[in-house]
Amino acid sequence: MTDCLFCKIVAKEIPAAVVHETERTLAFRDVNPQAPTHVLVIPKGHYENAAALAAADDGLADAVLKAAHDVAVQEGVADTGYRLVFNTGPQAGQTVFHVHGHVLGGRGLQWPPG
Ligand code: 5GP
Ligand code: ZN
Repeated sequence: MTDCLFCKIVAKEIPAAVVHETERTLAFRDVNPQAPTHVLVIPKGHYENAAALAAADDGLADAVLKAAHDVAVQEGVADTGYRLVFNTGPQAGQTVFHVHGHVLGGRGLQWPPG
């Protein structure tokens, strides 16, 4: 998609601090981190949100989930605990409409979130 921020990061038209990459996924640090570890995990292909990703029905959602856990291990937060969040739609505060999982960790996280 030509006018999508995260597609531009995949295409390397916009720089990002990439921490993990597979054939179908990319993970990079959030530009405005909310925790010591705050990484965004995306499929390289464009899907608007988690619902569209789940409907892709080609194992891509599994690949994103696995990449998110691999990132948590790599960041050293898998044992202490981390949160994986897919904001989906306006009431959840989704602002970038290329599906992304937030991997958050490295501090105590409140529940329920605000
Ligand atoms: P959302 O609110 O859609 O779930 O999350 C979008 C996230 O993307 C936000 O946490 C925001 O800080 C992050 N973000 C927005 N623009 C950029 C950017 O250009 N680069 C990176 N690395 N993160 C971004
Ligand atoms: Zn996109």
